[in-house]
Amino acid sequence: MDKTTHIPEALISEVFSSVQGEGPYLGARQIFLRFYGCHRRCVYCDSPETVTAWQPAGFRPPSFRVEWTPGHRDFKEMKNPFTLQKTVDLLRDLNERVGPHHSVALTGGEPLLHAEFLGALLPEIKALGMKSYLETSGDLYTQLELLLPGLDIAAMDIKLPSVTKNEAAWGGHQRFLARCVEAGVEVFAKAIVSADTDLSDLDTACAILRDVAPETLFILQPMTPFGEAQNPPRPEQLLDWQARCLAFIPNVRVIPQTHKFINQL
Ligand code: SF4
Repeated sequence: MDKTTHIPEALISEVFSSVQGEGPYLGARQIFLRFYGCHRRCVYCDSPETVTAWQPAGFRPPSFRVEWTPGHRDFKEMKNPFTLQKTVDLLRDLNERVGPHHSVALTGGEPLLHAEFLGALLPEIKALGMKSYLETSGDLYTQLELLLPGLDIAAMDIKLPSVTKNEAAWGGHQRFLARCVEAGVEVFAKAIVSADTDLSDLDTACAILRDVAPETLFILQPMTPFGEAQNPPRPEQLLDWQARCLAFIPNVRVIPQTHKFINQL
């Protein structure tokens, strides 16, 4: 019997092979497995088609697209929901045909809304010779448990409410970071900043990092204008804020999104 039959299926939004455009793994070749669904509503979201609140009630995407040849925009449609076995087969095919890849970026939307599925997928990714790289809003610490200790890298957001125009999740971020550190997962944190960034939000984020794991890399990522979000930070703001954060913790970098410059997915 197929050992994966008891595992729930997942709703996928998009699959493609490209380069990581954010953070310390800039330029690394990855397979991006984008999941449907997100519990948040960040005003700057560049994947609004995955955000549950912005879709009709009960919406389930009937299909998703796979870029068959990296960069060629030759998309194939596949049907949702997608089983674990089909996901593993697709990852294997991409890795063997257009790889090798450093890792699989589990992204969204919020991939942790599919935590049971991910818990079963992580060993399969490892068996394919790739690392698992979770891109997450960084607040769903209960769901994170289902991925530990098999997760390799957690790229967690710290959501600044003055930027997201959404509620804060300070307690969730604190617990999420603590669990990653306790479980030995490589973790770094990123905050999107705009011209609206409130200094008290920055201070709160830095205090969480200082109190839980002060050596954690903290990235200030200037907002990339998208949709209604058209207020990236000014040059002097970014440098002032980096200096302010460095008074709390030693490892703070300013890194913009780069894949958009080179028109990559
Ligand atoms: S957490 Fe990510 S996917 Fe969800 S709304 Fe915010 S930016 Fe979009």
